Amino acid sequence: MHRAGWVRKLDYFGRIVLPMDVRRDLGIEKQDGLEFSLQEQGIILIQIDKEQCRLCGSNHSLMPYRDSFICIPCIRELKGI
Ligand SMILES: [Zn+2]
Repeated sequence: MHRAGWVRKLDYFGRIVLPMDVRRDLGIEKQDGLEFSLQEQGIILIQIDKEQCRLCGSNHSLMPYRDSFICIPCIRELKGI
């Protein structure tokens, strides 16, 4: 699926709404996290896997952290810093 050409304006507060059909096709739900990646040609939105370690990408031994997850090995590694 490749779409191009849709234009959305930022609202007064700088927010943008993703079209409903795009959200539905990509399985993006309310409150899901999206990562902004700044590129030379613009901004790319990357869908964050809902149940994946935010640091290493593992989907084992996950602990919730804010609006995402961090795995226990990464937590242990961070505690050692
Ligand atoms: Zn991890």
